[in-house]
Amino acid sequence: MTPVKTETKEFQAEVKKLLDIVIHSLYTEKDIFVRELISNAADALEKFRHQSLLEEEVFDSHVPLEIKIDPDKDKHILTITDTGIGMTREELESNLGTIAHSGSKTFLTELAEAAKKDVNLIGQFGVGFYSAFMAAKKVRVQSRSYRKDAEGYEWSSEGTGNYTLKPAPGIHRGTKIILELKDDSHNYSEKESIKQIIKQYSTFVPFPIIMDGETLNTIQAIWTRNKNDIKEEEYTEFYKYVGNAFDEPSYKLHFSTDAPLAINALLFIPKENMEKFGFGRISSGVNLYCQKVLIEQHSENILPEWLRFVKGVVDSEDLPLNISRQALQDSALVAKVKKIITKRLLKFLEEEAKSNPEMYLEFWNNFGIYLKEGITSDFNYKDEIAKLLRFESSKTKAGKVVSLAEYVERMKEDQKNIYYINGPNREAIESGPYIEAFKKQDIEILYTLEPIDDFVMNHLGLFDEKKLVSAERADLDLPEAKKGEDESATETEKSLGDDESKKLTEWMKDILKDRVKDVTVSKRLVDSPAMVVNPDAYMTSTMERVLQASGQDFHESGKKNLELNVNHPLIFQLSTLKDKDTDFALEVANQILDNALIQAGLVVDPRKIVERSYKIMERAIIEK
Ligand code: ADP
Ligand code: MG
Repeated sequence: MTPVKTETKEFQAEVKKLLDIVIHSLYTEKDIFVRELISNAADALEKFRHQSLLEEEVFDSHVPLEIKIDPDKDKHILTITDTGIGMTREELESNLGTIAHSGSKTFLTELAEAAKKDVNLIGQFGVGFYSAFMAAKKVRVQSRSYRKDAEGYEWSSEGTGNYTLKPAPGIHRGTKIILELKDDSHNYSEKESIKQIIKQYSTFVPFPIIMDGETLNTIQAIWTRNKNDIKEEEYTEFYKYVGNAFDEPSYKLHFSTDAPLAINALLFIPKENMEKFGFGRISSGVNLYCQKVLIEQHSENILPEWLRFVKGVVDSEDLPLNISRQALQDSALVAKVKKIITKRLLKFLEEEAKSNPEMYLEFWNNFGIYLKEGITSDFNYKDEIAKLLRFESSKTKAGKVVSLAEYVERMKEDQKNIYYINGPNREAIESGPYIEAFKKQDIEILYTLEPIDDFVMNHLGLFDEKKLVSAERADLDLPEAKKGEDESATETEKSLGDDESKKLTEWMKDILKDRVKDVTVSKRLVDSPAMVVNPDAYMTSTMERVLQASGQDFHESGKKNLELNVNHPLIFQLSTLKDKDTDFALEVANQILDNALIQAGLVVDPRKIVERSYKIMERAIIEK
């Protein structure tokens, strides 16, 4: 007999670190490793079931699809066996020796932090297998792929720096995981305690979990059951199962349709946004079924990408059972299902927002960013998403929001447009020049506090046939201010006449011609001396900043209009100064522009500003 060749391999660095965390820092909630291994077994069985529909010949086709649990109390060993898709030698190596997800440092730190708080999170990060080392001092994985020509292999490790691989001839299709339990984990080899855990965690596994000939779970497709018969706890348990989730869902949508397509869907929205945990982009969370057979896990075809935070199941009887992944992408039928599901979900959110605005606000704060992504990246659902948008405004308290529909309802009689202004926060916006006219005329203005918001408004363009207009626009056309008693008192005192205004703007335009496109007399400013506005209707300062930061080149950067408040003492004095002391007036003019650019949030050269402001201060002191 030739000796079996055993190869020793080193774990990828990230796996080593991860194992170190698992072995040394996680002591609580050890039970979850059982759930993780069973969920992997169930995944493997689902994959096999689908694959066997696609391929003519699979290995061991007669073997029933099931999971077996064998606790050995005397030897302190727990064995979990599935008859799923199995792994080839290469798959063992890449699936159990590396982390497929971007194995970055930040990911691991985040994981370590998150896991300290709640070990349940480990499955979320796609590293559930390694949780086996919480309870086992040695893990052996024997696997035989469903592929006809594959060979059986055994992977084995003690969770330290390396693992071994050796051939394991003569085994059946699927995977057997043999755990040699640590001294403090012997309970996992006791029948009663393992049974308890499985009952708790694995109710929804769609394959029989068998121990000693007894099936521990009731196999059911909850989404095909009648809504009225399902308890809330069952929904929550199912959510945790399909979403591999640790939290409770915030929203649940269970519905079925018959026409034009027969669909059963059960969708959940989590409470927590996993992308906020620093995990990077999460993958889609909805599984696609056909007649209870899993066609695609984490399907990217069934909801648009920007709804990737939604978890659950979509089952359509109308899809062909043996459809392949590639065919899914191009299938018109699938596209139809996608459209139906997406519209239904958006409609559902709209209703929820109406019936429970507080709960919706929580959702909005966590997941609103995805809806904004939807508007900017997906033309198809713009109008539906627009109804779900929420913003703070000049008429809300800090942290409170309005919908565009509410805004429209409150619009003034002669107001044609919906106005918005971007800023880093409420205070910055409210102390800036852009909202002065709005305040004075009591016109509501939306505060867009995130850089993406201006892109959202721009993509949206219209809401309820009203234009969305940035308050930074040069041609801002506000409803006529009421003439008469509130006619500003300052104007009579110290205000430039038309002639002087014209001379001043022309002079400034000339000296600032490299820096601005035009200088005009403002019809809007009340307290501030000046502001910059955008002659380009499709660009705002925030958008410019974002594009600049991302290194994109765009037309004539910096060419804005400068609007002057000719009722302001500074501007009034500047008009005389320009003839008396042109050099100094020039410094002041540049400083006014720089200040206005700063208020628009645009980058200006701080050295020049500082230098110039000292000059101006010096002069002010001398004149005192
Ligand atoms: P995830 O399940 O989120 O992908 P895991 O760490 O739990 O992450 O598992 C890593 C990978 O190992 C799985 O994606 C799968 O490819 C493979 N794997 C784990 N357990 C099994 C099994 N019982 N049968 C087949 N493949 C498995
Ligand atoms: Mg897993």
